[in-house]
Amino acid sequence: MTKDKEPRKDKTGGRKNPGGEPPVVCSFCGRTSHEVNSMVAGPNAFICDRCILSSVEILRKEISAIRHPEKTDEPAFQPRLKSPLNIKEALDQYVIGQERAKKSLSVAVYNHYKRIDTQEWSGEDEVEIEKSNILLIGPTGTGKTLLAQTLANLLEVPFTIADATSLTEAGYVGDDVETILARLLHAADFNLERAERGIIYVDEIDKIARKSANVSITRDVSGEGVQQALLKILEGSVVGVPPKGGRKHPEQQLININTKNILFICGGAFEGLDKIIARRVSKSSMGFGSKVKDKQAGYDPEILKLVTQDDLHEYGLIPEFIGRLPIMSALEPLDEAALHNILTEPKNALLKQYKRLFEMDGVELEFTDETLDRVVEIALERGTGARALRSVLENVMIDIMFELPTLKDVQKCVITSGTIDKTDGPVYEKKAAKERKSA
Ligand code: ADP
Repeated sequence: MTKDKEPRKDKTGGRKNPGGEPPVVCSFCGRTSHEVNSMVAGPNAFICDRCILSSVEILRKEISAIRHPEKTDEPAFQPRLKSPLNIKEALDQYVIGQERAKKSLSVAVYNHYKRIDTQEWSGEDEVEIEKSNILLIGPTGTGKTLLAQTLANLLEVPFTIADATSLTEAGYVGDDVETILARLLHAADFNLERAERGIIYVDEIDKIARKSANVSITRDVSGEGVQQALLKILEGSVVGVPPKGGRKHPEQQLININTKNILFICGGAFEGLDKIIARRVSKSSMGFGSKVKDKQAGYDPEILKLVTQDDLHEYGLIPEFIGRLPIMSALEPLDEAALHNILTEPKNALLKQYKRLFEMDGVELEFTDETLDRVVEIALERGTGARALRSVLENVMIDIMFELPTLKDVQKCVITSGTIDKTDGPVYEKKAAKERKSA
């Protein structure tokens, strides 16, 4: 086969090249070589790049169906057909609370994929809609990563998480931005087209803020360097990526990834940002300011909702970087009720997961209301949001799950608040003798 843009046959209804010869036509879709990027020639036929990509997609689906017969063809979520409301409703099944963040994410993501789709089919002179990368501000364990991950799952796009603190400027030891893209490519099973529509979550983005917005000798130069490096991929550029990642394989061929359509969701706790906002607000409005001042000591989500680009600049993000994160959303700290719900409500709630695991051993698992109250109480004390729920539970459940399969005739296991405090063991209820016999 040869790659060909030269005219060979006339299937074009008489449209000719300037040289008088008819253009080459794709034997599959009928597009001419002028309408596509490239055309591959076989002995008696041509195929254009678009048809090659569709064929690859068909084959990929077939291979996937053979490898994973349990998966149906119908995707759980078809972004093109859905509205922001549908996206929000889908998020609701996994993420508790954070109504504002879910709403703005749903709109941003909907617009993002709409933008890509129209871009593919519209002409050059259309209004260009800019990419809307997202900044999530909120304390640890409130669902920033979960939101990004859930969105990617719902949309069935490749997803990867990068930690901004492990990033370095090109040339220094540590991860660089190319490594993030290599991970996304990996998550897309090396399907370049899918990777270029993926989502990257960059965590701890606040940690690469320089220490002071004033340009001075004390400024944190490395933080700014990392912002510059990230800026390059955030704004959309073609980056040569070593598919195997890292610098260990200098001989590998680079794959060019265009980041124009990759959605970046950045998240960070931004400790102290509320004070910057409160100071600004109190300067500009005495009445409102004096009200917000009272709350300065704690983390005040109401103040964070007022965040502006200037506040983030004062915090230490460079203006170009902030400019590339036009959607900003503040997440709320999770209160007692939210933590309760997180334990029981989401589709993959922790309690549901444990119950399912026990069920597989033929055991019913029960948590009393008091038990849940105690778990939430300890989690709140730890101050790490919902993150603490898992560690509190895991701490006791590991021992129980270790011994349970070797215990005989247990039909029910009740976890009490004493079990959580490790002052009591779980209550095991055994099968009745009659049941045991029939079993
Ligand atoms: P962060 O805000 O630090 O990125 P994560 O999203 O990683 O927090 O949350 C840690 C874990 O806590 C998640 O895996 C999830 O199980 C749980 N979690 C946090 N926030 C929520 C929420 N709003 N709804 C449901 N689960 C949550």
